[in-house]
Amino acid sequence: MPRHPRTTVGASPPPPVGGAQAPTSERSPSPVGATRVATRKSGLAPLPQNGTPASIAPALLAWWDRHGRRDLPWQREPTPYRVWVSEIMLQQTQVVTVTRYYDRFLAAFPSLRTLADAPLDAVLHAWSGLGYYGRARHLHRAAQRVRDSHGGELPLDFGELAALPGIGRSTAGAILALAAGQRHAILDGNVKRVLARVHRIERPVTDTAVLRELWSLAEAHTPATRVAHYTQAIMDLGATLCTRRRPACERCPLAARCEAHAAGIAAQLPARSAKRARPQRAATVLLVHDGRGRVLLEKRAEEGLWGGLWGLPEIAVTDEAAAWCTQFIGQPPARLARRPVLRHAFTHFDLDMTPVELEIPAPAPQARDTDRWLWYDLHAPARIGLAAPTTRLLHSLL
Ligand code: SF4
Repeated sequence: MPRHPRTTVGASPPPPVGGAQAPTSERSPSPVGATRVATRKSGLAPLPQNGTPASIAPALLAWWDRHGRRDLPWQREPTPYRVWVSEIMLQQTQVVTVTRYYDRFLAAFPSLRTLADAPLDAVLHAWSGLGYYGRARHLHRAAQRVRDSHGGELPLDFGELAALPGIGRSTAGAILALAAGQRHAILDGNVKRVLARVHRIERPVTDTAVLRELWSLAEAHTPATRVAHYTQAIMDLGATLCTRRRPACERCPLAARCEAHAAGIAAQLPARSAKRARPQRAATVLLVHDGRGRVLLEKRAEEGLWGGLWGLPEIAVTDEAAAWCTQFIGQPPARLARRPVLRHAFTHFDLDMTPVELEIPAPAPQARDTDRWLWYDLHAPARIGLAAPTTRLLHSLL
């Protein structure tokens, strides 16, 4: 099969891998508890003049002791490796979704070394459906680095941990707090929301100055003892009571001191940045199959949309599907059918895919470049990484 340039979606460059965001700052945190927040920039509510605000930790811990979550799969045996995998999966993904994948992933890769030694295809296969595949690639790359440079043990030094691919400041803090009881602050989406409300921070939390302020608050509130419980407690509060749309303030342990609640504006915070028009992109994807369950897949470039996964070949112009088939398969399609457009929402844009089904006379020719091309057998599927829309389209042929 001849090679041809890789096609890309639309004309603009792809977003960060899999639509996922790069981790936040890689800086080392300042010593927790030593933070002094004297005055805020205009637009932010003032803090007490004498420095660190009274910590929300006692009230949160008392609440967590009665209502906190203790039965999450990664809480059963919170080793650094297991906590690390959970924290990466939980980036931009809710607990309820992660619990569907976590045990299966840990069964496939029970230790850091098994993860490091596995082929990337196997890792992406276990991650398939969880989205933001850059996380899986970073996890795999970081495991290999830990195997090669840290004797196979996840480092428990903040700087070394935060230097690994896919581990930013908040994730490193969470791993060290939850798995090693080290005193580090975290600032994931839940924590940002809780702190923005408790302190009535009305500017968008994407604002750099506000982020700096939130980190200072997160550090100031983190207690000296029971750090793992506190870290879990503030995440639990954000996930169960201080939710984005309908905060349950009447049941909240922080209600008495929550400034947003007192002002009756809890549900309006955190403020969102001004909305920009959502970009749209379009692509034509080719469902080339032999009528016997074998479908042509192309391995996508490592960096970029659905990087490292196997996907359907893409072309820029829908009307050129038949010509593509003749040129690259070596024979014209026996049947061609254009399917309805499928929309897939990524973090920063929508992708409209026009699938074109091309049935070729059986048997399907053997792909020559097997690192890039694969005849995927629907009746004996290979263990490879597939994006959810690809899986849906493949299943539509069954
Ligand atoms: S009182 Fe309401 S807004 Fe404030 S932290 Fe609790 S749930 Fe969130």
